[in-house]
Amino acid sequence: MCQQIAQGTRWSRCGHFQRHLVTAILDCNSGRCERSYQHSRICRLSTCVKNFGGEIQQDIDTLDDYCFACRAAQERARRGRR
Ligand SMILES: [Zn+2]
Ligand SMILES: [Zn+2]
Ligand SMILES: [Zn+2]
Repeated sequence: MCQQIAQGTRWSRCGHFQRHLVTAILDCNSGRCERSYQHSRICRLSTCVKNFGGEIQQDIDTLDDYCFACRAAQERARRGRR
């Protein structure tokens, strides 16, 4: 199964990864994977892999904070407790 190589920001407090861009595709060289260059364009098999595997995350910067989603969730929780 092919994998996308993504660059993004790592939020070190919660460990989440914020993807900025996909820089490359790691080809699995399988003729049974529709994402691979080895896969035939005329192949009609429904059993071939259609999706990417888990993305490979490259941290281009690390921030000592929570990500936006986690901060919004914390904010909601704070407001709900009142
Ligand atoms: Zn593949
Ligand atoms: Zn196929
Ligand atoms: Zn987070």
